[in-house]
Amino acid sequence: MSTNTHVLVLNCGSSSFKFALIDSQSGNQLLSGLAEKLGHTDAIITIKRNGEKNSLALGEHNQHVDAIKVLVGTLKQLGLDDGISAIGHRVVHGGEAFTESAIIDDDVIFAIEAVSALAPLHNPANLIGIKAAQVAFPGVPQVAVFDTAFHQTMPAKAFMYGIDKNLYKDKGIRRYGFHGTSHYFVSQKAAEWLDKSTKDTSVITVHLGNGCSVCAVNDGKSMDTSLGMTPLEGLMMGTRSGDIDPGVIIHLMKQYNYDASQIDDLLNKQSGMLGLSQLSNDCRTLEDALNDADNDKRQAAQLTLEVFSYRVAKYIASYTCALTHLDAVVFTGGIGENSSYIRNRIVKHLSLLGLTIDESKNQQARFGQAGAIHDSTSRTPIIVIPTNEEWVIAQDAARLTKEAK
Ligand code: AMP
Repeated sequence: MSTNTHVLVLNCGSSSFKFALIDSQSGNQLLSGLAEKLGHTDAIITIKRNGEKNSLALGEHNQHVDAIKVLVGTLKQLGLDDGISAIGHRVVHGGEAFTESAIIDDDVIFAIEAVSALAPLHNPANLIGIKAAQVAFPGVPQVAVFDTAFHQTMPAKAFMYGIDKNLYKDKGIRRYGFHGTSHYFVSQKAAEWLDKSTKDTSVITVHLGNGCSVCAVNDGKSMDTSLGMTPLEGLMMGTRSGDIDPGVIIHLMKQYNYDASQIDDLLNKQSGMLGLSQLSNDCRTLEDALNDADNDKRQAAQLTLEVFSYRVAKYIASYTCALTHLDAVVFTGGIGENSSYIRNRIVKHLSLLGLTIDESKNQQARFGQAGAIHDSTSRTPIIVIPTNEEWVIAQDAARLTKEAK
């Protein structure tokens, strides 16, 4: 077996997958890319290496396994294929079965299938990726890294819904949380930044990207997080509504004959920044629209970004309930890492908690630059830390593979 430290990380969706070949020790990406529109004749795979991008149309051979074959061919051409020590798969839902990452065998595949009912869009796609990778890389250990696993430490008071408890017992309906690898990674980095052991550190991590969630992390453990049984609860996101009164759904069904798939489409795809602004799901586009010549567009963007920021601030404030003390608030994800505007709006709502921002430091923390953005009077540090979910997956895959030897 290879002693190489290279791990292929696969993040498989129903019609796309992202991949990255990572050195699990240094975190360096040797190659990365994306296969899109799988299952369609216009499927395409794009591979990035050393800043160069190459795309290839997949034509009739447009299934996941075909795209993985193209990837294997490219790795071979580049001489990168025989040093792969493990393949790490991002798996969205591990239910209660997985409190940590796992080497994939028949039992693990069975358990991932068993929780698929809780994530019908995601887990079957993750399994397609696992099965295709098993065919393409026979003999290479495969590891599943779950988005939910980090949050399995949440206490019952945080994960139970206030509904008939038999729905939990019989159907597994409870809060699970997602973005676990990101919250884990930035909370570890925050402890390093604070020069404290993870054990004594209490932080609130705020992952703001297309998907958004807040997490309270105490002693290295997730105590509460804002995504729930599905990645729809909590904050307003790019196209997802986040929290709304469940009565709205009943009203739409009873009064306007919405069916389950219309509700699903409305809340998952047509809501959030896109739905409220009617302009875009993309934070950058909305920030640009703040200066649009059209007054209506300006107002729509302003309202959307204000609702978004206010809701994030409310979650941060409420998550102090889950902690013994607060060492830092940590921003990450595409918006959290780059948008000084959103961070400023959020922190402005938190002055009663004693959080204050240094605007010049805030402006500097962009484009992957980590750093503190609070001013000298702030009761608590506010830090921007770029997330690196691929590295967490690569490290877990390498560690478990080594332990299994
Ligand atoms: P992610 O899902 O983590 O890739 O984040 C995607 C989100 O980050 C999108 O809403 C982007 O508009 C947003 N984003 C990325 N860069 C910036 C930026 N410089 N300013 C504002 N938002 C940004």
